[in-house]
Amino acid sequence: MDMIAACGLVCTTCPAYVAGKTADRALQEKTAAEWTAAFGMEVKPEDVVCDGCQSTGSRVFSHCLTCDVRACVHGKGYTTCAECDDYNGCKTINGFFGMCPDAKPTLDGLRAK
Ligand code: SF4
Ligand code: SF4
Repeated sequence: MDMIAACGLVCTTCPAYVAGKTADRALQEKTAAEWTAAFGMEVKPEDVVCDGCQSTGSRVFSHCLTCDVRACVHGKGYTTCAECDDYNGCKTINGFFGMCPDAKPTLDGLRAK
């Protein structure tokens, strides 16, 4: 079963999640290079490891560990933004959709259930 992040990303298909389960060094190196270019910050291969947004442990990728959406969702006691009454007008999640548009249909689908 897929683990959906607070923001609507699918953690179970994320390279950091997969690398964490498989110890795939080549995947870590490839993803570190891609994320360094995409995020404009240095990501080391050994940092590309994560147990997913809904994990209560400490092994969550640094960028997601400090994510405003994750902090807000978990602070309100939700699993994802799909549960929130402010979803449609929220600047935080809608700003995130500008960077990661694939997350929106996932959350919209959860809201339609
Ligand atoms: S929380 Fe972890 S698995 Fe989920 S999207 Fe972020 S880095 Fe990937
Ligand atoms: S206020 Fe925005 S970021 Fe926070 S849970 Fe609601 S929709 Fe998500």
